[in-house]
Amino acid sequence: MPTEEQSRQVVIIGSGPAGLTAAIYTARANLKPLLIDAPADTEKQTTPGGQLMITTDVENYPGFAKGIEGPELMMQFRQQAERFGTEFLEEWINRVDLSKRPFTLFTDNQIVRAETLIIASGASAKWLGIPGEAKTPDGFGGNGVSACATCDGPLPAFRNKRLVVVGGGDTAMEEATFLTRYAAKVYVVHRRDKLRASKIMQDKAFQNEKIEFIWNTDVAEIVGTPEQGVTGVRLRDVKTKEERSFECEGVFIAIGHKPNTDLFKGQLDMDPVGYLITNGHSTGTNIPGVFACGDVQDSVYRQAVTAAGTGCMSAIDAERFLDHLPVEMPSGEEVTIEGEHVTADRKLIIEPTGEVISNVPVLEDC
Ligand code: NAP
Repeated sequence: MPTEEQSRQVVIIGSGPAGLTAAIYTARANLKPLLIDAPADTEKQTTPGGQLMITTDVENYPGFAKGIEGPELMMQFRQQAERFGTEFLEEWINRVDLSKRPFTLFTDNQIVRAETLIIASGASAKWLGIPGEAKTPDGFGGNGVSACATCDGPLPAFRNKRLVVVGGGDTAMEEATFLTRYAAKVYVVHRRDKLRASKIMQDKAFQNEKIEFIWNTDVAEIVGTPEQGVTGVRLRDVKTKEERSFECEGVFIAIGHKPNTDLFKGQLDMDPVGYLITNGHSTGTNIPGVFACGDVQDSVYRQAVTAAGTGCMSAIDAERFLDHLPVEMPSGEEVTIEGEHVTADRKLIIEPTGEVISNVPVLEDC
């Protein structure tokens, strides 16, 4: 049961580039944001700092001509957010109530009330759902199967071994290229005969002698023993449906990500995959005062720089939203930034033009 309670103008969920950029902007605007993020947990795939914490070289983030390591970049983001007074809370959010403002967030220890909420909870790696993929003891997850080459690739279990990477996107190319630092050979298994990855990442992988491609092929099963871990995979030709055994000692699944939005189901509008839907040229969701930015709402670009960009947008959107909320005067009347006055008895609204409008709802005849 939560025992502590606090109220904030701005609460941000997530500490990737989107969340931390929102924090930098709202902190600089003196809004004293609280940034909540889940603690590191390999089982639940949470990493404070987001996906860049498990990325190696980031070569396309503007401002770093020689490239920068993902964790170093995120440390810079975090220090910048701290410098302007962002406060951090590392706890699981178990439930949110967005039915009225202030919105309420329930963690194990705290109830946090928020006038505005910026959701930047990112996305997590997807799994194939095949036999042998589940966590030990049900499968070989953690015992030869991984979704993060930078986290697990350097482990002794994968050194000088034959490894399989599944996928044809940038993540798969990046993971395969990274794994060649340690592995004897890396086989990229892709279900089509064309890669989805960007040209530069494809070229890097094609030029790497330790990488071999297995085209038009699915992994149907991961096999092994509890003692040895993974010993191979069962490959299936997607055209002929023919299956064959293939020896390897490690499998890295790199087939994309799914947005972390389970917490908001039934409260915020989402697309069929679970990406939060934002309104046109803004980061506003279907609930006024709730904004979404980064990978949680972007199924198209999904880059660190675009995540940071939408984080900035959501901070500005939240700031403007707060600016337009009526401020209560000592007299009891409320005044908005647009110059509207709501009388102390709440019965009348006086427009900046002087026009007086009733603030009492008109009940229509049934
Ligand atoms: P992605 O672009 O969606 O690629 C996913 C890959 O996995 C595709 O090749 C897809 O096959 C395959 N796949 C999906 N489901 C599968 C299944 N059930 N069985 C077999 N294969 C499956 O995802 P991503 O590679 O994670 O990249 C996501 C975004 O992050 C992209 O915008 C990418 O540019 C960016 N990114 C950038 C960098 C970088 O610049 N350093 C690094 C990593 C990611 P199909 O091709 O047949 O659909």
